[in-house]
Amino acid sequence: MDSSLNQHPKHSERRPILEVRELRKHFAGTVRAVDGVSFTVFEGETFGLVGESGCGKTTLGRCIARALDPTGGEIVYHPADDRPPVDLASLSARQLRPFRLDVQMIFQDPVSSLNQRMTLLDIVGEPMVVNRVARGKEMRDRVGALLEKVGLRAEHMSRYPHAFSGGQRQRIGIARALSLSPRIVVCDEPVSALDVSVQAQVLNLLQDLQGELGLTYLFIAHDLGVVEYLCDRVAVMYVGQIVEMADTETLFNAPLHPYTEALMSAVPEADPRASREPVILEGELANAANPPAGCHFHPRCRYCIDVCRTEVPELREARSGHSVRCHRAEELQLQGVAGASVSGETE
Ligand code: SF4
Repeated sequence: MDSSLNQHPKHSERRPILEVRELRKHFAGTVRAVDGVSFTVFEGETFGLVGESGCGKTTLGRCIARALDPTGGEIVYHPADDRPPVDLASLSARQLRPFRLDVQMIFQDPVSSLNQRMTLLDIVGEPMVVNRVARGKEMRDRVGALLEKVGLRAEHMSRYPHAFSGGQRQRIGIARALSLSPRIVVCDEPVSALDVSVQAQVLNLLQDLQGELGLTYLFIAHDLGVVEYLCDRVAVMYVGQIVEMADTETLFNAPLHPYTEALMSAVPEADPRASREPVILEGELANAANPPAGCHFHPRCRYCIDVCRTEVPELREARSGHSVRCHRAEELQLQGVAGASVSGETE
């Protein structure tokens, strides 16, 4: 796909920071967890990846952070300085080291992602020591400042994670991710393990940090309410592929793909008097090792016609800045969901 397809006019002046081109990640040779994904992320934006569990969004995020090695394709990173763009996917572990600092991850479950036997000082300071960024008093000072920045207190650095609530533990995870001053943070379902009451606080913190530090987020979520709240642009994934991509307002007001419409139908109405016809998403997510012929979504699609069963739809720009993978995108009148609530779940 032409990478210019996803350059919405709003972002045409902005500088790309990441260009993902035809990225693939296959497991055991046949499971196409990520199957030819292309998109561009602009500096300072929040780019959302959504879809049901198992659609490949987490695998994609891990490939971009190089926690997993992609099977093929490119992850072109544009450094902040005068260095030329570099394909992270093609670098060896040693070559990757200077760029690893720039891309960090926040994980879904702060309990399992933090070593419970380490103090906050060690958890947040370890990446600085390992990467020879800071040690000793300088490291302590930096850890203290980071803890304050994420809404914790510097004097708590000698405590262990179990002394903190779920929301506070996620703040510790965020402080660790920021310890190397990254430019891009891959946020993998960062609030889905938290109580609804603290989700908004953590989302607000992420937004504040983005403004203060100029961060770019790749935000992975199955909760469309969270995505609508936080993301500038969104890509919807199904069986390892992007099926729709647009700026958030357009996607939520006027989706073009039946899968997006079905996901949105599960989001509670902001206005309870508004009437929206529910779309029941029947059947299971297709098997990535043996996806259906034609459009992978066709067994679950209520708009399926003969051509959908045999011909694979390409991802194409149906409207300016709005790409979709559906044979019938121009003729269908799909329902959007403006004003979704933050706690709306798709699963
Ligand atoms: Fe549905 Fe056909 Fe579009 Fe696939 S191509 S989403 S089956 S209408």
